[in-house]
Amino acid sequence: MNGLRPWRDIARRKSRQISVGSVKVGGDAPISVQSMTNALTSDANATINQIRELEEAGADIVRVSCPDEESTAALKEIVRAVKVPIVADIHFHYKRAIEAAEAGAACLRINPGNIGSADRVREVIKAAKDHGCSMRIGVNAGSLERDLLEKYGEPCPEAMVESALDHARILEDGDFREFKISVKASDPFLAVAAYQGLADACDYPLHVGITEAGGLRSGTVKSSIGMGMLLWSGIGDTIRVSLSADPVEEIKVGFDILKSLGLRHRGVNVISCPSCARQQFNVIKTVERLEQALAHIATPMSLSVIGCIVNGIGEAELTDVGFTGGGKGTHQVYLNGVPAHRLQDEDIVEHLVKLVEAKAAEIEAKKAELADAAE
Ligand code: SF4
Repeated sequence: MNGLRPWRDIARRKSRQISVGSVKVGGDAPISVQSMTNALTSDANATINQIRELEEAGADIVRVSCPDEESTAALKEIVRAVKVPIVADIHFHYKRAIEAAEAGAACLRINPGNIGSADRVREVIKAAKDHGCSMRIGVNAGSLERDLLEKYGEPCPEAMVESALDHARILEDGDFREFKISVKASDPFLAVAAYQGLADACDYPLHVGITEAGGLRSGTVKSSIGMGMLLWSGIGDTIRVSLSADPVEEIKVGFDILKSLGLRHRGVNVISCPSCARQQFNVIKTVERLEQALAHIATPMSLSVIGCIVNGIGEAELTDVGFTGGGKGTHQVYLNGVPAHRLQDEDIVEHLVKLVEAKAAEIEAKKAELADAAE
């Protein structure tokens, strides 16, 4: 069914749904946002603190590496201390996978084709089933199987899809279908083509990301192009932005990508102009300070901060709280799209923060009222 603005509709690919602990992935579940810790997993306290920071930023799922026994030993304490489901990242060592499942991991990131004999695969599948774990098959262009590289000559979309389906078949043969798949590459062209091929070839939920995308700015741009292209075409059930930056930034960028596509809303969507000689207050500084001061708000809502009346009125009409620069230091504040009051230069940030907080509280109260009425 077309929405009010059909040019904004995204028809999501129909995928089967799996559970990563309490979070549903695939089907009609909201697209979840993940990141990964980089503290030593064996240092449970450091890892717990990092996961809590990620929870605060809105992470739905967090992945931790389990390279050794000390890590899977710490996992038990970690899982107990945090709210989000934990994915244990395993490479090669099937025993770590079994230990992680026993320790309470919600999901194992493991490629069954890499862990050796059929017996080992059977053991891992049994541990996952016994402990209610799902799995993620994670194909990476940088670590494709040698036979596929020989067959195709280089990492290409077809080789990545074949690798993913080979791993999937191993799990299917073990009567296990609670898994999602990723086919990541640092080259967005390769990643996008591989995900498109995989999306056509199966109905498993897809974990989407551009791997090793780079630093905060370049990685954000690359991820937005690659993941944006996929999400816009309806592909992707859970996402991770990979940045050489604080993992909290990955969560923020992930939500910003989803927000830009209208796929998920969290926090204040700030609409602001780049500013020019017509600005009636310092737009850039004001927006910088506002973004910091409003980072704690999770309620989806919009705020426009526009330097002058050229675009200020039109944008304010479409936002929950609007602010438009006016002549002689007298600016206009809008609430729910209509002019509310004037404001002088001095206290723009403090004033807008108060208004946004009040609006967020109002939206939450309304939500609670509706939920009560529905019960
Ligand atoms: S809205 Fe006004 S201040 Fe902002 S960029 Fe446009 S003309 Fe310049």
